Amino acid sequence: MTTNINDSAIVIGGSIAGLLSARILSDRFASVTIIETDKLPELPSPRIGVPQSVQPHILFTKGYRILGELFPEIEEQLKAGGAISIDWTREFHHFNRMGWNANSLTPSDLISVTCSRPLLEWSIRQQLAKYANVQFVDGYRVTRLLSRETQITGVALRSSTGLETELSASLVVDASGRRSQAPNWLKELGFAPPPETIINPFLGYATRRYQQPEGFKSNWKVMLISSAPPTGTRLGYLAKIENGEWIATLGGYGGDFPPIDDRGFLDFARSLPSLEFYQAIKNAQPTSRIYAHRATTNRLRHYEQITLPQGFVALGDSVCALCPVYGQGMTVSAIATTILRDWLNQSPTLSALKPARFQKKLAKSNSLSWMLATGQDLRFATTKGGDKPIKSGGFFHSYTERLLKLTNSDPNMNALLMEVAHLLKSPLALYHPQVVFQVLTKGV
Ligand SMILES: Cc1cc2nc3c(=O)[nH]c(=O)nc-3n(C[C@H](O)[C@H](O)[C@H](O)COP(=O)(O)OP(=O)(O)OC[C@H]3O[C@@H](n4cnc5c(N)ncnc54)[C@H](O)[C@@H]3O)c2cc1C
Repeated sequence: MTTNINDSAIVIGGSIAGLLSARILSDRFASVTIIETDKLPELPSPRIGVPQSVQPHILFTKGYRILGELFPEIEEQLKAGGAISIDWTREFHHFNRMGWNANSLTPSDLISVTCSRPLLEWSIRQQLAKYANVQFVDGYRVTRLLSRETQITGVALRSSTGLETELSASLVVDASGRRSQAPNWLKELGFAPPPETIINPFLGYATRRYQQPEGFKSNWKVMLISSAPPTGTRLGYLAKIENGEWIATLGGYGGDFPPIDDRGFLDFARSLPSLEFYQAIKNAQPTSRIYAHRATTNRLRHYEQITLPQGFVALGDSVCALCPVYGQGMTVSAIATTILRDWLNQSPTLSALKPARFQKKLAKSNSLSWMLATGQDLRFATTKGGDKPIKSGGFFHSYTERLLKLTNSDPNMNALLMEVAHLLKSPLALYHPQVVFQVLTKGV
């Protein structure tokens, strides 16, 4: 089959991974259809299909840059909606177990925006809607894949009122998130489903929005008080977002879940290793109830290990769902769509594009973020899954401790760590001989 004007693609799921995939596919396919189970809201608002949308979402610089490449007007769109530009080396206030980080005094290019997740997703949707060959079919759930021999030919879908229909396509992309049913659909067609690796840190979030108090002055736009494995289970995240609001999140590892009542929420905030979070919110006016979220398991579906039908690939949380506290998910999804673009560019002939090749590239790319997330989570003895708990101690951990300590006094080291965290540089940059020298001589 050669790609021609009649080729069409289907994307299952209209969240971040699905929207960005559709943008990539729009360059190649005559028609791209996003099928989304939710009715998509006209204005930025949380939705049921994305239960995490009331929770905070850090957008890393790497992800923001990819967004900018795909949608040159996204910055304007986000800012018009009230998103706030942030320089992560100057305006991110981070408390690690040894104190606060050293912020730069001069501007850097480590920029993205801080805003609510609904505003971000809505802005991307507005931008995507400008592409005439992209359609949204919302309020419909995909219920199975259609196939002819070993070729996926489309999907079956059902509306919220029970209306059943079918849509055909030359390529189906599963971007339906961590609860994706694609493994079951493949099984129904006689394919082996992907093996899964699951590592559960039993991390719970509780999140509330506040009106930023009048006259409140701060040198941060985002504040994070990190957990400190193996014993420091608690964390706090406070960010300025649109409309003069703050989003305030408490987190607890190993089942140490933050309460969702007023008093309990404040008490938990007061128990964090720095009082700065508590002092900021204690007299602020809440503008929402407190939302809990406990679906934080790291789940990796090994699509790279199975035989896939032609015309089907999976990406985003559907393949690699990460513990959210490291803020990687949307950026990992954005990177996945660049891999999709490269894969599509390998041949003008669709039948020459082997899904296994895409999934292998994706697995390789996901592995770093997976290691970063699970490597931290496994330092808590309460984390379940993985081969064995990672013991603290030894050279690696003492080096990391020294490095973290140095980020509290040296803005350049802090900036380097930010670049790695934002997936702009490989973690190997932290082991460059010059960095090692500084860490070993100054980070004590
Ligand atoms: C509590 C929490 C906090 C997070 N914080 C961050 C953060 O700070 N930074 C960050 O980068 N990432 C964060 N993430 C991760 C981020 O939300 C995801 O990585 C991101 O949304 C990309 O996921 P996705 O598009 O693959 O799937 P999802 O966002 O889960 O979306 C899946 C979509 O598919 C739809 N769908 C599902 N099944 C079907 C079906 N059968 N038919 C049609 N539609 C279907 C759903 O309705 C939904 O719209 C967080 C996640 C959680 C849980």
